[in-house]
Amino acid sequence: MTPLRPIEVHFEGIEREPFVAEMCRVPGSDRPFTTALPHPPPPETLKLSVASDAFFVNNYSDNHRIALPISDARLWGTCSGGELRIFYARATATTTEGETMRFCLRFIFDAENNTRKISPNYVFLEDLIADAQFHFKHLRAAAGTIVPAHYGPWKMDTGKWAGVVVFSLTQWCGTPWATICNTKYNTLANRLLVGRTFEQLHDLGIQLTRSMGCTDNYCQVLLDIEHPSATPERCFDGRARCYVVSFSNASVHNCQRKLPVLPIARSLFNDPLFGCDELSNVSALMGFMEASFTPETAADEALRWHKEYTTRHPTHRNSAVLIAQRASLFPNAIPLYPGLDVTGPSREDTSVEVSLSNVDGTTLDPAQGFESCTMRQLALGLWGRYLHLRPRPDGTNSTGSPVHG
Ligand SMILES: [Zn+2]
Repeated sequence: MTPLRPIEVHFEGIEREPFVAEMCRVPGSDRPFTTALPHPPPPETLKLSVASDAFFVNNYSDNHRIALPISDARLWGTCSGGELRIFYARATATTTEGETMRFCLRFIFDAENNTRKISPNYVFLEDLIADAQFHFKHLRAAAGTIVPAHYGPWKMDTGKWAGVVVFSLTQWCGTPWATICNTKYNTLANRLLVGRTFEQLHDLGIQLTRSMGCTDNYCQVLLDIEHPSATPERCFDGRARCYVVSFSNASVHNCQRKLPVLPIARSLFNDPLFGCDELSNVSALMGFMEASFTPETAADEALRWHKEYTTRHPTHRNSAVLIAQRASLFPNAIPLYPGLDVTGPSREDTSVEVSLSNVDGTTLDPAQGFESCTMRQLALGLWGRYLHLRPRPDGTNSTGSPVHG
């Protein structure tokens, strides 16, 4: 594996040559940071362009994303008490095949001062490194599906403009739920999409903050309602792509949830019965515990079913048990993994082992679940027959870029 070559970053409105950035090593890893390269491949030198209206901060008072003038970059880090939020940008680049790629750059400006240990802004460097390390160690199988592809931390000298600038380079993932929740896109379908995405993350053995109990946390959940193929209809009815981002406080996690993140019409907020604090909080904040819902299956029956199946099939991973439970008790809900064919148990019968088949004829072992799945297994589970198989230049296939179902 080779690190990415130096890249160029151009800010519109800044009258000078593009800045040249080089990838940094991630402390604690024995090799340069790499992850799956974007496909189709970027040109020889990736040329990123930041438009004058694509420089942002999430507002501290209400978490809304607001655009800033790029000239504000020079102000970041000058507050005496330290900064509250990171500045970030959406950059675009054109591939060799003429496609437009979108990237997110999260910046530490004037890094020579702001990354000193005595600086109140040192925490931003710690977070940037921790996020990159977590992607490197734990999220490679999920890169580009429910978490962004991460291309590592980078550094560029911008001279008198903003000094040395450190930034993380990741896939652009859209608009934060903290902003979307106050718009017409706060639909039940989209809240179900957020819930599913968190369940998938937990199935991979990851929790984001251990709580997700306050609205601030929902800056870390994004819906890509800006994607070129995301029509208004798709954005309303839960078919935009959903991503979870910023893993600096994430941790590995053996999810013990016993219920799906679906309307259950009963308050199990922070209740051990639910089995997972983070997901019970997500469920509560998405409104699924409100009594106004009529659930397909009452929580008590779903809990009983989970216990009975687990007792009968003790080797099955919880992610497989939850898939079986959802198929048996919540058949009208969108499956957690629409690409998987789920057969076996039923509402009445937990004695039969669940069988999990992919469209390509492979199966997922219920004793393995999704906890240690490969990128291809996850993508097949999520997209099934909609998974694009793009030819590589050498004639072999890769899993490539999934399309919207
Ligand atoms: Zn969990």
